[in-house]
Amino acid sequence: MKSLTILGATGSIGVNTLDVVSKHPTRFNVIALTAHYNIDLLFQQCLKFKPTYAVVGSENLSEHLQQRLRAESVKTKVLFGGDALAFVANLDEVDTVMAAIVGAAGLLPTLAAIKAKKQVLLANKEALVMAGPLFIEEAQRAQITLIPVDSEHNAIFQCLHGQVVCDNPCKNLAKIILTASGGALRHKSLAQLQATTPAQACQHPNWRMGRKISVDSATLMNKGFEVIEAYFLFGLTLDQIEVVLHPQSIVHSLVEYLDGSILAQLGSPDMRIPISYALAFPERINNSAAALNLLKVARLDFLAIDEKRYPCLNLAYQALRIGGTATTILNAANEIAVQAFLDGKIYFTDIAKLNQDVLEKLHSRPVSNLSVILEDDNLAREIAKEMILKHYSARVTKMVRRKSVIR
Ligand code: NAD
Ligand code: MG
Repeated sequence: MKSLTILGATGSIGVNTLDVVSKHPTRFNVIALTAHYNIDLLFQQCLKFKPTYAVVGSENLSEHLQQRLRAESVKTKVLFGGDALAFVANLDEVDTVMAAIVGAAGLLPTLAAIKAKKQVLLANKEALVMAGPLFIEEAQRAQITLIPVDSEHNAIFQCLHGQVVCDNPCKNLAKIILTASGGALRHKSLAQLQATTPAQACQHPNWRMGRKISVDSATLMNKGFEVIEAYFLFGLTLDQIEVVLHPQSIVHSLVEYLDGSILAQLGSPDMRIPISYALAFPERINNSAAALNLLKVARLDFLAIDEKRYPCLNLAYQALRIGGTATTILNAANEIAVQAFLDGKIYFTDIAKLNQDVLEKLHSRPVSNLSVILEDDNLAREIAKEMILKHYSARVTKMVRRKSVIR
């Protein structure tokens, strides 16, 4: 039986994880669940899974949730804050941690889980983008394999599985090919992109996901982060990582070997498939995802990426070439940019511009320790916020004014 902490239990990955877990009550035991604000959902999850601990974002919320659980005679102890997240990632009675908090907030608890030698199932790609070299160093020191949950990396992990036993798992590999659906705005003209609303950007054609990753999918920053994720996770060189557009999201990624063989993993676009694989590794378990009907799919398309439409993808390669904290800076700038876009403060097309401006303004430093990463993360956020105030919000206000005059 595996004992689990699920960081980010109320998010899209967290909910899908619990869905798989609920099908296998004799295989998984839920010890801790965490959420930021959504205590209504966390309350329901606690009623169902009766974890020993629940963690929320503030003291107020923790008191409120504790009272509600007590009234139902549920003995879950409710904690709050960053230390509590690290605490439940580090519990002796836990052997597996699902890292599914979104953004930089997931970094410290995920690192705590790695240091404690837990089996880490990694959905929180931003943590890896932010602190790649440190992450891999800690994982090697703890002698654990990070199991990727991101569908593309999970696909590659599956295609590499036979190779994992070799001394150097990637020595027979020519390259990997990450597939990208192209996101919600693939069919919009370049001229239409600027006026995109948050609701439109979040309407992903194939996947149901949280808002941040949905916007990242529309800009292809998500794919850029996945390039960075693959670079660190699989120890590849940059020219070994290719991205192709695959609108159907059926082939989740591919591995090309030196002899010309290409292995791919296919499946319905349903995160319960990679989640099940990560949870049960090295076994396979069933879940409620729909089986893939190849005759219904009928065709699989692969297209080149249009760099003009998706400048964020190149920024990821650029950040990797710069090295050091450049990926930290890019991740931080993007978190601020996406939030500003979701809040209506900047245009959709400003996300890439702001990311580039911050990447150019702040010089990368070698990743010597965690403080350097946290400092550059913080600095990049401050610069991004300042740039939005000075150069970006004003343009949006002007545009809104101009539009209302035209009407
Ligand atoms: P989401 O927004 O649906 O959920 C995020 C979870 O993190 C929630 O439980 C929320 O309470 C928690 N959280 C948010 N901010 C927090 C903070 N400051 N402190 C503590 N907890 C906080 O996100 P998601 O779509 O489930 O994505 C989670 C992670 O998985 C992201 O890193 C994303 O890139 C990655 N991922 C998601 C998918 C997907 O299909 N949703 C696919 C691949 C990778
Ligand atoms: Mg992905």
